[in-house]
Amino acid sequence: MKQVHVAKHAPEAHLIRGFLESQGIEAVVRGEYLTSGWGELPVDLCSVWVVDEAQFERANELLVDFLKGGFARKFSGERWTCPQCGERLEGQFTACWNCGTTRK
Ligand SMILES: [Zn+2]
Repeated sequence: MKQVHVAKHAPEAHLIRGFLESQGIEAVVRGEYLTSGWGELPVDLCSVWVVDEAQFERANELLVDFLKGGFARKFSGERWTCPQCGERLEGQFTACWNCGTTRK
C-alpha cells in the first residue's frame, strides 16, 4: 500500500480513486472518517492509496496527467475557449487561430 495523492476533500479523493480503478489500478481512500480524538472535529484531508505498490509508478503518471486535465482532453475532444481573446475553438486545435495562444 502506497500513498499516491492527498486530496483536499472526500469528493476529490473518490474521484481519483474511481479514475485509477477505471485504469485497472486498485486504490483506496483513507482518512475521511477519522476524528481528532477530542470530539467531533472532522479530518477533512483524505488520501488515496494504491493497493499494489508495483502499480504505483503507473498510477502516479496517470494521476499527474489526469490532474493537469490532459487525460480528459485526450478523450473528449471538447471545444475550448481561448483564454486570451475568448475565441471558441474545436477540440482538435491546440492553438487559437485568432491570436496564436497555445491551449493550456
Ligand atoms: Zn485567441
